[in-house]
Amino acid sequence: MPHMASLATSDLQPEELDRLAGAIRDVNDFPKPGIVFKDITPVLSDPGLFDLAMRALNATFAHEKVDKIIGIDARGFIFAAVMADRRRTGFIPVRKIGKLPWQTHMEAYELEYGEARIEIHKDAILPGERVLLVDDLLATGGTAAAALNLVSAFEGRLVGAAFLIELAFLNGRQRLGSHLDIRSVLTY
Ligand code: AMP
Repeated sequence: MPHMASLATSDLQPEELDRLAGAIRDVNDFPKPGIVFKDITPVLSDPGLFDLAMRALNATFAHEKVDKIIGIDARGFIFAAVMADRRRTGFIPVRKIGKLPWQTHMEAYELEYGEARIEIHKDAILPGERVLLVDDLLATGGTAAAALNLVSAFEGRLVGAAFLIELAFLNGRQRLGSHLDIRSVLTY
């Protein structure tokens, strides 16, 4: 069972969080040997569990003013877009290279094998806007760090980063830096 450290502001009961954690499926050796993949599709396919996940994520930054929520391609879109709708904020997609149609800022980052590139539209964040980064899972932090570098090209204010799942043993939090407010629903 995960450690549910950062839910002081949550309106979820401990048994509800247990139910949520219990529905996340560990898939061994996916997408390659040695990786234990956290499969969230059983949460998404159950309306009650999906609602629990969204209530828990919403609770992480419930008391901070947010103008725009940034979601990372592709699972991050699911949670970030629903969160944006529930909070009545704007939604900004950070996409894999070549998918956004207009002018973009681009960031390259290292994966375990090779390199990845992500983009954001140049008009995504207005000066002074308060933005929150949302993704399904924080592992090594490489993806989130690249997304945060994209955000740094704007004159907005980064409120923090919210994750449904944090794999704390991979030290992504350290990689993102102590200045960043990171709040995760389920920490393993
Ligand atoms: P990282 O850049 O290492 O923090 O990896 C984060 C991204 O990869 C997230 O957007 C996740 O969707 C995905 N990811 C990495 N490791 C896992 C895992 N064990 N289970 C599920 N998704 C993962």
